[in-house]
Amino acid sequence: MVKLAIFDSKSFDKEFFKKYEDKYDITYYETLLTKKTVGLAKGYDAISIFVNDVVDKEVIDKLYEENVKIILLRCAGYNNVDIEYCYKKIHVARVPSYSPTSIAEFAFALLLSLSRKVVRGNNRTKEFNFSLDSLVGFDLAGKTIGVVGTGQIGSKVIDIAKGFGMNVVFYDIFKKDINGAKQVELDELYKESDIISLHSPLTADNYHFINKETIGKMKQGVVIINTSRGGLINTSDLIEGLKSKHVSGAGLDVYEEESDLFFSDLSSAIVEDDVIARLLSFPNVIVTSHQAFLTDNALTNIASETIKNLEQFLNNEYIDNELCYRCKKDMKDCYKKRKERCF
Ligand code: NAD
Repeated sequence: MVKLAIFDSKSFDKEFFKKYEDKYDITYYETLLTKKTVGLAKGYDAISIFVNDVVDKEVIDKLYEENVKIILLRCAGYNNVDIEYCYKKIHVARVPSYSPTSIAEFAFALLLSLSRKVVRGNNRTKEFNFSLDSLVGFDLAGKTIGVVGTGQIGSKVIDIAKGFGMNVVFYDIFKKDINGAKQVELDELYKESDIISLHSPLTADNYHFINKETIGKMKQGVVIINTSRGGLINTSDLIEGLKSKHVSGAGLDVYEEESDLFFSDLSSAIVEDDVIARLLSFPNVIVTSHQAFLTDNALTNIASETIKNLEQFLNNEYIDNELCYRCKKDMKDCYKKRKERCF
């Protein structure tokens, strides 16, 4: 039986991968894959990872040495994998689209919780405090949302925003024609948007692009929503923006230092990260633990697509969702365009 090790696994992973256990010998590791834990991959044909596992050169060398043949990402983003270094050593496949709706809807869940102070209101009534003091919100209708990155998730966000009667401006590195939405440069997006929602991948080019300078260009009272990757925002600068009230709210499903915190119950621990502690102290900030993807539709698709990627690899077929370093480098000789494996 082909052996698959699933790293950073949760109870829900076991539930959704269970039906594939007849065909594959699956081991679930709760730990993240890092240089310290990579030894656990010994003897496996394939490993599966999630958003916070660290697949750097050292880990890749070790996986290669242990003859692990494919890394199966159970997510769309792959900023945590050194794709270039994997080239000619180990194949990498992801799940590019498991349910863009789940993340887009969650971005609005964060936004509506902030705009209508739902979480604060609920916390009060749980203590039989039925006061409405300081719960005044604002309507989304008529407000302008600036969407950064208009792929699968960003374009769903635009659809939902239009349903709310919002004006939409967007920025993407590619020219796009989206009905009822205006493509603008980032500076214009900062100037026009009451709400900014991030949906671009994290790359070397846009790390910390939300920072002191760019926040300074935003509208007074802007609300920032991030369901993409924590590294897009310089969190210390965001905190300054919140303290000065230039930023009137933030809904964050991701955090740049989340790998030490998210997905664990630390309620009895002394958390050493002062930045997250400060962030959590704001009444107008909502932080969730990278849960935007967490719907049963998404988990069903993640498990089936991960197994499909593995099967295509094992059957020596073209792997639809292979991450190909060649294409990223804009090489003329693109194997993916020819429907061939990256190497
Ligand atoms: P996608 O590839 O379909 O779309 C990304 C879009 O961003 C593309 O249109 C691309 O042209 C654009 N883009 C790339 N670089 C950009 C830049 N520097 N500035 C502006 N736009 C840029 O991806 P998607 O499925 O829409 O996912 C977007 C991101 O959402 C993922 O990369 C991932 O980081 C994040 N995500 C988060 C969760 C979660 O649970 N919170 C789940 C899935 C995905």
